[in-house]
Amino acid sequence: MYDTFGFPVDLTALILSEKGYTLDEKGFQEKLQKQKNRSRAASESSTEDWTVLVDDTVEEFIGYDALDAPVKLTRYRKVTSKKDGEMYQLVFNLTPFYPEGGGQVGDKGYLEDIHGDVVYILDTKKENNVIIHFTKNLPKRINGDLKAVVDEKQRHRTTCNHSATHLLHQALREVLGTHVTQKGSAVHSKYLRFDFSHFSKLTLDELQAVEDFVNARISGKLPLIEKRNIPMQQAIDDGAIALFGEKYGDTVRAIKFGASVELCGGTHVKNTGDIWHFKIKSEGAVASGIRRIEAITNDAVKDFYSENNKTLFEIKDLLNNAKEPTKAVLKLQEENTSLQKQVEQLLAEKAQNLSGEIKNQLQEINGVQFLATKVDLDANGIKNLAFTLGKDYQNLFLLFATNPSKDKAMLTCYISKELANERGYDAGKVVRELGKLIHGGGGGQNFFATAGGKNPGGIPKALEEAKNYLV
Ligand SMILES: [Zn+2]
Repeated sequence: MYDTFGFPVDLTALILSEKGYTLDEKGFQEKLQKQKNRSRAASESSTEDWTVLVDDTVEEFIGYDALDAPVKLTRYRKVTSKKDGEMYQLVFNLTPFYPEGGGQVGDKGYLEDIHGDVVYILDTKKENNVIIHFTKNLPKRINGDLKAVVDEKQRHRTTCNHSATHLLHQALREVLGTHVTQKGSAVHSKYLRFDFSHFSKLTLDELQAVEDFVNARISGKLPLIEKRNIPMQQAIDDGAIALFGEKYGDTVRAIKFGASVELCGGTHVKNTGDIWHFKIKSEGAVASGIRRIEAITNDAVKDFYSENNKTLFEIKDLLNNAKEPTKAVLKLQEENTSLQKQVEQLLAEKAQNLSGEIKNQLQEINGVQFLATKVDLDANGIKNLAFTLGKDYQNLFLLFATNPSKDKAMLTCYISKELANERGYDAGKVVRELGKLIHGGGGGQNFFATAGGKNPGGIPKALEEAKNYLV
């Protein structure tokens, strides 16, 4: 949990203590160390020196305005790791590729040379202020002109999620209060995740209010107002929220959608209308006082709704194309309840009839009303039958056998309490011993006990031997 999902240990300890368990701290630390050693081994890597092709130390990022650009490879190096095998890290004179940062994932895309040969860019990261592009191979013509192209669809989805994250932040402060501060965020192409300080679980009404707030700003089609390279103070005066513990340069970039102003280096939609729609998928705790919301936008919401719609059609189909499936399900539930009642009624009648038959079959042996017989009832029915009969006698000794399926057998022994106590009879002993004949075991009290086994073939012998307990 800790390693895979980053689930906090203190929260695990808390949940355990609420359930009456304790955390094996020592065991946890040992396992953690082992895992650290394992991942160290996996990340063992060798990095070659940079091969410099063009002496150009300033790599300009143009990805806010362009998604493709003619570029020159200025340097590259090979990195070998157990995890990823051989990879190349490429640096260009300029790039439209956004490097992972500010919670937003790095861009993917491709490089194409003038002959149409393509190399895929699998990830983009920033290291010592240089944007590094990860590829599996080197371009064939490393000195030639290259075209760097960002995967537009993926970038657009990520961008929608990033802008929605800002609106979500604003919504939470508006709906829950200004104590809400951002504690972390992850902006992917498929979803967004936002961690924030808040003391309790959000109610359904609060979640709905947050979702409505964001969607109102999406349908309000708020234009992006982007200010690059403005002094920090100016941004704060504009209403930007600086994140505690975050490092900012002398100048910052402010992203504004309506009343939402944030200092941010990420990519954003030109207009909130581009996000199309925002949907919260989950809300939960990550640590004490810190909540997490996961949400989706744009295509992911369309997929979500179309999946829901498909399920609805499947349900309608199962309900013979009911126009109002909710009503149809309610009707089925009602029918089911009424059928259940009828079945119970019929079983009760069956037990009643059976009890009459059994009374007629009782044999008086040695001052005991005795019967050992096979009945066709379930465990509960047998129990009811035995106790119903028990009301009419103080000297009853019953052994019922049933075989619900071809490899299942059950014995139930009922002895009137008075009889059991006076003569020292023990229903538990009866089923334990006779249970062996049906290849099973069981037990209970001296007046009522059951045994289950897997050999119905032993039933006749068990019934026959029951008499022996009457001495
Ligand atoms: Zn941002």
